[in-house]
Amino acid sequence: MSHGHNKVDITEDNSSDIEIYLNSIFNNIENPLFVKDQSSRLLLVNDACCSMFGLTREEMIGKTLAEQVPINEREHFLSIDRQVLEEGKEILCEEALTASGKQTRIIQTRKTRFTDRQGNYFLVGVINDITERKQAKEELRLAANVFTHALESIMITDNTGTFIEVNETFTRMSGYSRDEVMGKTPRILKSGRQSSSFYKEMWHKLLTKGYWRGELWNRRKNGEIYAEMLTINAVKDSDGNVQQYVALSTDITQLKQYQRKLERIAHYDVLTNVPNRVLLSDLLSKAIMQCQRRNKILAVAFLDIDGFKSINDSHGHNIGDELLIAFSKRIKDALREGDTLARIGGDEFIVVMSDLEKPDNSKLVLERLLKTTINPFVLTEAEVRVSTSIGVAFYPQDGLDADQLIRHSDRAMYDAKRAGKNCYHLFDIAQDNAVKLQLENINDIRLAIEKRELLLHYQPKVNMQTGEVIGVEALIRWQHPVRGLIPSLEFLPVTEGHEIGLEIGEWVLNNALEQIKHWQKMGITVPVSVNISAYQLQQADFVTRLQTLLTAHPQVKSNCLELEVLETSELSNISRVSDTMTACHKLGLRFALDDFGTGYSSLNHLRRLPTQVIKIDQSFVRDMLEDADDLAIVEGVIGLASAFKRDVIAEGVETIAHGAALLKLGCKLAQGFGIARPMPAIDIPKWIDNWKPHNSWQNKDN
Ligand code: C2E
Ligand code: MG
Ligand code: MG
Repeated sequence: MSHGHNKVDITEDNSSDIEIYLNSIFNNIENPLFVKDQSSRLLLVNDACCSMFGLTREEMIGKTLAEQVPINEREHFLSIDRQVLEEGKEILCEEALTASGKQTRIIQTRKTRFTDRQGNYFLVGVINDITERKQAKEELRLAANVFTHALESIMITDNTGTFIEVNETFTRMSGYSRDEVMGKTPRILKSGRQSSSFYKEMWHKLLTKGYWRGELWNRRKNGEIYAEMLTINAVKDSDGNVQQYVALSTDITQLKQYQRKLERIAHYDVLTNVPNRVLLSDLLSKAIMQCQRRNKILAVAFLDIDGFKSINDSHGHNIGDELLIAFSKRIKDALREGDTLARIGGDEFIVVMSDLEKPDNSKLVLERLLKTTINPFVLTEAEVRVSTSIGVAFYPQDGLDADQLIRHSDRAMYDAKRAGKNCYHLFDIAQDNAVKLQLENINDIRLAIEKRELLLHYQPKVNMQTGEVIGVEALIRWQHPVRGLIPSLEFLPVTEGHEIGLEIGEWVLNNALEQIKHWQKMGITVPVSVNISAYQLQQADFVTRLQTLLTAHPQVKSNCLELEVLETSELSNISRVSDTMTACHKLGLRFALDDFGTGYSSLNHLRRLPTQVIKIDQSFVRDMLEDADDLAIVEGVIGLASAFKRDVIAEGVETIAHGAALLKLGCKLAQGFGIARPMPAIDIPKWIDNWKPHNSWQNKDN
């Protein structure tokens, strides 16, 4: 079988040339190789084997190699040799070598049995040193371990994109177990929602830049689609070759759902499913542009249902709602394709007819609208009859922008009502004295400031669970000598966008600061929130003026002042508003997004504006007990707040039941008539002393 220690005798004719070739191959192979006899003793070792063990050939031949493995593993080591030699199994085994004096290596040996010409068994072993590979894997495992309990899902793939490690969050998120994905690629998660060019771009960026970040829709094992925010990094070796890809992701499905819900709410009327005021002004502006380009006329018809209020009052809200749905459906059916119907208020609708040749061309449709609504409406519990008053304004003669056209059609609608209802009336520009009217009002308001007829009322904000009064909101009132106390919405809108609006804004801030100072002297430290109009907030000198006011009240701690910004308001330059807010933040002030959910891009505002508080709009809160949509919105906003780590407060809490429902949803802060109405400043201290949350709010396991 062998003539010497390192000679191989395999060939029939003993050709010495071949022997030399084989010998040199044997010794030049990088893998350590050895041959053992039937009793596991070494017959032959190559150079690589010698150097791996750090022994000379002479020191090895005739030994079993067992002395090279730790004592407690020797028996196992020899039993493997026996299994190979006696049973003819091919075995791949992994061993830790503590080769004499050398550092520990992890080796993998493939042991195979052969038979020589005499029928004797011998064992051939091929060794792979896997120490480095093992270490790398161990390091990876450790790294992955760090993230095992992380909230992010983690996927590690090799450079071909095959999974080599995933963490528990991944398993939870995708529904696939670790074993199920090993050896597969992330393609198993593909939802089909992204185009192949999306993935192509992703790979391009990964290969050129070494990372990719973005949002992605994937599919869970159970078929459900989910959204994730994903970051992939390419891990490269020192030569710049990609070794692994590490992907971190968070599940943003819920956020996406909230976003969709809010966007839908922001653009469509929940009851009738037709566009709301926000979407209307968008659609109308586009239609105006189109008519301008095509040199056509556009009609805006303002519809108001005659007698709606009495039906609502006598039959109840359900019938009222049903009527609105049926009404909007009839109107839609009577319109031409391409016309738009929107609901902009209780029983107020707007119809936009574009691409008309002349105003007269709208007559047919207008008459059809009148006719279709005087037929009785058969509802589930009542049959009701109504009619409609319509006011019409045309582009371009009656107005050039959406706002103006709507306002003018509104005025024409009033004329239709005055003319006896159930008719339409065209806007008459000569009759329009609105501009004059508004000027008079502004003058009145200016006078009111001079005569000190403006004042602030304060409405408490509380924690329904702990009973703490967390602040009060300053709300402006006009104590009119003749008309009595006028609420803010009856005079503030006129001032919006005018110099006088800014004057009032400063007056309110100054007054609130004075009030805080006064309360502080009495030993009451209650934060006051002040409403800031978008116009005021977007003034270039807003921060400096605010600072001046604060400096004039050195006793007032700035964290006692919170500013509320209307979510619906026109925040035209978000990044500038955001800078302003950050600057105010540095002065110690907090911001709240008021009337949240009613705006055009709530999520965008939430994401980009550094506000600390969200106020859920009272329109959602008011109906949340009866209206599943509104409940869903409230729930959605609360979820959003927690996702974005903002405080959330509900406005318009009118009853104990509202409070209880909100607590159940996890919203503890509230404001509303059910807690307290806005009151003069002088009443606040006593109210704070006496207020206790309702029993049912506390003994819940909220
Ligand atoms: P807002 O900031 O959302 O203020 C809350 C409004 O809801 C107040 O009306 C308040 O009286 C009313 N409210 C509170 N609880 C309830 C409730 O349970 N049910 C109902 N139905 N209503 C409730 P108010 O005082 O008429 O103010 C209306 C809006 O006018 C304010 O809405 C705010 O946007 C604006 N406003 C009021 N004061 C000022 C001010 O000083 N400056 C500016 N820029 N805007 C102000
Ligand atoms: Mg407010
Ligand atoms: Mg509000």
